[in-house]
Amino acid sequence: MPTDTHSNTSKKNRISKSDTIQFLGALEQLQEMQDSQPPRLLIVDDDEPYRASLIVLLRLVGYECLSAGSGSEALALLERHHVDLLLLDLLMPCMDGHLLMELVRARNQDAAIIVISGDSTWSSATKAMRRGADNFIRKPYAPDEVLSAIKKSLEKREQRKLRERKMVRQQVSEQLHRFIVNKSPDFIYILDSKGRFSFVNERIRLLLGYTREELLGCHFSSLLVDATITGKVMFNTPLDVKKTVTLEVQFNKKPGLKSGNPDPITVELTVQSAYYRDFTNGRHVFLGTYGVARDISRRKQIESQICYQAHHDHLTGLPNRSLFNDRLALAIKQARRNKGRIAVFFIDLDHFKAINDTLGHALGDRALEAIASRIENCIRQGDTLSRIGGDEFVLLMPQLKVQRDAENLARNIVEILQEPFCLGHHEVLITASIGIAVYPDHGQDANTLINHADLAMYEIKGRGKNNVGFYSPALDKEHLSNLSFETEMRNAIERNEFIIEYQPQVRLSDGSIRGLEALVRWQHPTRGRLAPCDFIGKAEENQTILPLGNWVIEQVLRDVRNWRKRGIDPPVVAINVSALQLRQSNFTTVLVELLKRHNIPGHCIELEMTENVIMQDVHDKMRCLKKVTDAGIRIAIDDFGTGYSSLSNLQRLPVDTLKMDQSFVDGINPAAGENSMVAIIIAMAKGLGLGLIAEGVETPHQAQYLEKAGCCQGQGFLFSTPLSFRSTVRYLEQAPCGPIQ
Ligand code: C2E
Ligand code: MG
Ligand code: MG
Repeated sequence: MPTDTHSNTSKKNRISKSDTIQFLGALEQLQEMQDSQPPRLLIVDDDEPYRASLIVLLRLVGYECLSAGSGSEALALLERHHVDLLLLDLLMPCMDGHLLMELVRARNQDAAIIVISGDSTWSSATKAMRRGADNFIRKPYAPDEVLSAIKKSLEKREQRKLRERKMVRQQVSEQLHRFIVNKSPDFIYILDSKGRFSFVNERIRLLLGYTREELLGCHFSSLLVDATITGKVMFNTPLDVKKTVTLEVQFNKKPGLKSGNPDPITVELTVQSAYYRDFTNGRHVFLGTYGVARDISRRKQIESQICYQAHHDHLTGLPNRSLFNDRLALAIKQARRNKGRIAVFFIDLDHFKAINDTLGHALGDRALEAIASRIENCIRQGDTLSRIGGDEFVLLMPQLKVQRDAENLARNIVEILQEPFCLGHHEVLITASIGIAVYPDHGQDANTLINHADLAMYEIKGRGKNNVGFYSPALDKEHLSNLSFETEMRNAIERNEFIIEYQPQVRLSDGSIRGLEALVRWQHPTRGRLAPCDFIGKAEENQTILPLGNWVIEQVLRDVRNWRKRGIDPPVVAINVSALQLRQSNFTTVLVELLKRHNIPGHCIELEMTENVIMQDVHDKMRCLKKVTDAGIRIAIDDFGTGYSSLSNLQRLPVDTLKMDQSFVDGINPAAGENSMVAIIIAMAKGLGLGLIAEGVETPHQAQYLEKAGCCQGQGFLFSTPLSFRSTVRYLEQAPCGPIQ
């Protein structure tokens, strides 16, 4: 990840081209000086034998030699070769040694020069020395004298070069340091012993908007957001120059500075104190502080964003499970110490899936946000509400005085959620089931408390939802029994413990048979005969509805085949199917295959599904139902009026029949008078051109009312309770069959 300082580095602060060139030049110079060659000598003399003998002598000693017979020849050689020392004759025709020396110096050649000349006059010698000769040897010379002069001159030259090299190195190093400090992405400063800036690098302008001049002489505290830590920044360093202190501080930007970056900015400051040791008394004298501040604002911002995201639910902004667990663990610790009590709520929305399925996920999300905000409005500041799953919330109520307080709050929540929610153009009713576990009575640790609140919530769901309940140890047993229920149920299919009963659907005008509805029952070996409400819901939860549903379909088809063999032909047999069954990709294919195998035409079968099931994922449903109806199978919407059907979807889906829920039929009684809901449903079925069956018709009054209102078909105890296979045979043999509507 790039550091903050890199990301904040502006163009201005980047190393410019000219900076680089300047730099490289200095480094090259240094390099050149280090790469110097072994000494090379040039003998310049018009006296050929003299020259030759000198070359022999010098080569014998190991020097590399060049020779020239005239000044111009020497200059030509100097053009091409690097020469460290010239052995120069003064008296030469055309160009004498003095002129040559002058030209050599004028060309900036830095070779050492030793004059070896027959002209031994004092004036000639001083003239040569003034022109830069290192030594003057008279001809004829003694070899030792020449060699020692050469050695001395070369040594002198080497020392001079060393000095020059050192100077250049120092200059380069200074240049480098200045460059590094000024171009540093960090803010570098020096404070004097009183805490005033005595040096600041260029970075300060970009970082805080000040010029260097504005800050020099100012006190360090003027930059700090929290001036109380000035001492820490300045004097808290130990009396050890090698030790540094690193701390995070916040700097104010120059007032009025317009910048998109955060203000104040957070920096990581590394401080080192400078001390001077007074050797007269051995004491350390504080000189000031040297500091490097790195801008970490961006990193801090990202860190806090990541930390927030890691601990909050992205949709509602509520604390997530991990933050909730931390707070719960802390609350338990405090409660243990103070012998206090805390409550944990497990809040689960009832039928929330239906909202997502029918209104779509976007509105579902808006519902969750609205729910979260309603609950938040009921709780105190110290409470923690968290969303831990799709429609699951947990609530921590620390410092609980009496259990009753938890119950009151939970009831409050249930109540405020009952107010309808406006989602887009829809008004939606959402209820919740809340389970509560209390520390220390119902659990000593976070996990147990959450699990027990969850169990209590399940218990509420089982008892009709939209309510509040506390955990009790009896629920554990029930939970275990739920686990064994799944195994029991799977075994029951193999052991043939399920049976099907058929309830007739009749024409209200003459009681003729419209069809039969297949209803499953469980002949439990120990609990006796169980109704669907005792096991269908659980079977849907643990998915055993799939094998059970398959069994029901096969059994119904076997029964229909048997009736047909006996010459009894019920117009249509309705089979209830669950959402999970329809979601199986091969549902229709298998069903059509079975119909073929049993030689039953598709129109003999009707599938009943509730509104919420059929309205789930309408697009996918459309494809699946199309295949069903293509095979001639009819489709009925069960318990119509209790779910979330949209008229437009009803028109698009290949539905044949609506089954008016029995709650509407219940409402028909002589005392109640006109029933507007019944009238609306009848009008709707007519408008959509669908058949209609009233469910749960129990009294003649209901039957008459319905018929008069325009509903022609009914099902209910008034006509017949659900019947066994044999009784159905008898019923079918006696009652006449009517047309299907
Ligand atoms: P449903 O599909 O609405 O079935 C009608 C329910 O109303 C049946 O209850 C039936 O016995 C009852 N009923 C019929 N007439 C009257 C009446 O006049 N008064 C009253 N109070 N009730 C009447 P049952 O058999 O207990 O079934 C309940 C629900 O279980 C069914 O409601 C259906 O949704 C489901 N179910 C039944 N068999 C199956 C099945 O094989 N698969 C699936 N997935 N669900 C099934
Ligand atoms: Mg039904
Ligand atoms: Mg029904």
